Amino acid sequence: TIQVKPATESKPKAEKTGPPKYGIEIRKQPIAKGNGHLTVSDSKFPGNTPLHSYKIFKFQQPVAPVRAERYSVSTMEGALTARDRVGVQDFVLLEEYKSENAFIFNLKKRFKEKLIYTYIGSVLVSVNPYQQLSFYTQYHMEKYQGVNFYEMPPHVYAIADNVYRSMRNESCDQCILISGESGAGKTEASKYILQYLSVCSTSNEQVGHIKSQLLQSNPVLEAFGNAKTHRNDNSSRFGKYMDIQFDYKGAPVGGHILNYLLEKSRVVHQASGERNFHIFYQLMEGSDEKMLRKLCLEKTPDTYFYTNQGKCAKVRSINDRKDFIAVQKALKVLEFSEQQIDNLFEIVASVLHLGNVNFSANDEGNAVVQNDHVVQKVSILLGCDLDQLLQALTHRTIEANKEKMQSPLAVDQAVYARDALAKAVYGRMFNWLVESLNGSLTNKDVKRRSLIGLLDIYGFEIFKSNSFEQFCINFCNEKLQQLFIQLTLKQEQEEYRSEGIEWEPVEYFNNKVICDLVEERHKGIIDILDEECLRPGDASDKTFLKKLEETVGEHKHFVTHALGDAKMRKTIGYEEFRLIHYAGEVTYSIEGFLDKNNDLLFRDLKETMSKATNEIIKSVFPTSELARLKRPETVGSQFRTSLNKLMDILMSKEPSYVRCIKPNDAKMSDRFDDNLVRHQVKYLGLMENLRVRRAGFAYRRTYDVFLKRYKSLCPKTWPRWDGPAKEGVALLCKHIDYADGDYRLGKTKIFIRFPKTLFATEDAFQI
Ligand code: ATP
Ligand code: MG
Repeated sequence: TIQVKPATESKPKAEKTGPPKYGIEIRKQPIAKGNGHLTVSDSKFPGNTPLHSYKIFKFQQPVAPVRAERYSVSTMEGALTARDRVGVQDFVLLEEYKSENAFIFNLKKRFKEKLIYTYIGSVLVSVNPYQQLSFYTQYHMEKYQGVNFYEMPPHVYAIADNVYRSMRNESCDQCILISGESGAGKTEASKYILQYLSVCSTSNEQVGHIKSQLLQSNPVLEAFGNAKTHRNDNSSRFGKYMDIQFDYKGAPVGGHILNYLLEKSRVVHQASGERNFHIFYQLMEGSDEKMLRKLCLEKTPDTYFYTNQGKCAKVRSINDRKDFIAVQKALKVLEFSEQQIDNLFEIVASVLHLGNVNFSANDEGNAVVQNDHVVQKVSILLGCDLDQLLQALTHRTIEANKEKMQSPLAVDQAVYARDALAKAVYGRMFNWLVESLNGSLTNKDVKRRSLIGLLDIYGFEIFKSNSFEQFCINFCNEKLQQLFIQLTLKQEQEEYRSEGIEWEPVEYFNNKVICDLVEERHKGIIDILDEECLRPGDASDKTFLKKLEETVGEHKHFVTHALGDAKMRKTIGYEEFRLIHYAGEVTYSIEGFLDKNNDLLFRDLKETMSKATNEIIKSVFPTSELARLKRPETVGSQFRTSLNKLMDILMSKEPSYVRCIKPNDAKMSDRFDDNLVRHQVKYLGLMENLRVRRAGFAYRRTYDVFLKRYKSLCPKTWPRWDGPAKEGVALLCKHIDYADGDYRLGKTKIFIRFPKTLFATEDAFQI
């Protein structure tokens, strides 16, 4: 059905001509050679033909080689000749767009051809290639600059470029939401985007500095916040939202990072085959003798309880020594002082030592430290009093009748206190680190104009055993899904309605009901958990479960053993509850919910830390905290508050989406597991997304924005148009010959059905 032939016949010289990468059939034709016309006939895709093929139709003049290459690459890659082999580059071009099988088959075909990116309109779907691909070079970054979205093969650079240009042209804050499960490629995508934004934006010396600081924040945060897990050798164990601020010239002038819920439990416990945060291994592997001596550290992670539990200190894909050099360099670029850097590493080392503090029971059954010399190392590194630290690790001050008393701890309580201290020290240091990065990234004197936010946050998690951490992470994903629904699905439909444009409604599942189940005031799971945490007396994980059953037992997304039917009971234990999330069912073990939500650190330990001479420790354990009588907010409540703030931030921006998919569980480059992918396609809501997109109009802009940009194309609106913007746009559309079916004029906006229409306009405008 496809013919590609030069209009001016010259002798075909097959091999030398044509696009280098994708031109399968075109390669046989001398299209890029000389000044040949290019004719593409396409009988299968009337109406759906993407812009680039249209553009080729329209070429009346000779095609310059570089343009021919550019268009034929995307044409081939897109809907035309190579379609059978490489699939379509935009799912809206899929004939069977309602079929999940067709969707997955298209992804698979492309994955096999190393075409890991595919669009759903403006949403980018990315499949982790698990191998280094060749299209992330400077050359490619330049190629994507300023070209229309659909002219080039789909790429994360195209998303970045589009976002950057929308920000500049319309001075409208943007955000890019990257989602997907662990190991799907979110962090890699965010790094490529950051790199692209840094390369494509204007530069001078000062801007160069802020650019390198923005880029250098990554290795630091990854060292302290990422770890090897079963799913990913470099798994982010915290959520991250980063703002990049631009001035009116489009140059980056600053940044700001918000971090969410670091998985602190990893500091004291790692499952077999997993590691603690990278920085621990980096410090041991990368420090020279002098530094090791100063930190009283051995070189071997096996020596330390906090790094030997997973039994996999060495990982083939990780070079701790090299990474440590990068971290040290980055800290310098980010203007951390020598002393701050020393303090940081002293804290990391002290956490390792803390893990090796052992306790035994004395005759009265009370805990005593077995190895004082280890505690001594901690006290030296943090600069706190040894006796006070020993005492605080084994006793608690309690107040009875206004009298203070020292109550000894049992061994298990002392171990708990030790671990709580390690987690608090590490967690607060991490927050300090983020705040300090923010200090460096803050734009001091330039007035910022607009910003681009980048969200790289943990994806939905279902493990064999799920606990409080998964509960929080999955709640976060419910919220993001809710945002996605609000912004793309619901808003899309509502906008058509409010603009008075006819529209066929699309059914979708609204997960608000699950968000409410978790977060609703007084009635939701978080508040019920808080209530139990605050209740004196016999409150325990089990009483929490009972309360849940009494309060939300009837909810159709909540099940427990006691409330399930006979069949269900076989699959849920007595001490578990199950939530039917939008992405699937997850069974949570209640063990540790109260403890983890309370995240208590005994006051004695806080007091000891507040007197430390290590400046970072001193600042993150302020004495003011000791004077506060109010209980600190629980982890669940804090998380809910920060997530809701995040939702407000994201709501105020124009969103773009990167949906990452993991092709297999084995981290292999050549394996595409249909079922695994199907599951992700489902819970990322991609089919719904596609249906909405196919039914609607691809592009919309308010009349004044549209008119402002394109008015020069019509003599009636150029140079001035004094009438209502809508009328101006109507004249403009007639003048530039928009076909009736291709656009609609709503109340406040113009809607354009296919991107190609707009791109033709954009091209005319640029000529
Ligand atoms: P987590 O939620 O655990 O943080 P993630 O979605 O951030 O997971 P990444 O760390 O980005 O996952 O990716 C996991 C690994 O997959 C990377 O370390 C890298 O080896 C590989 N990978 C991901 N994306 C790409 C890519 N575009 N090109 C090459 N390799 C990739
Ligand atoms: Mg990550």
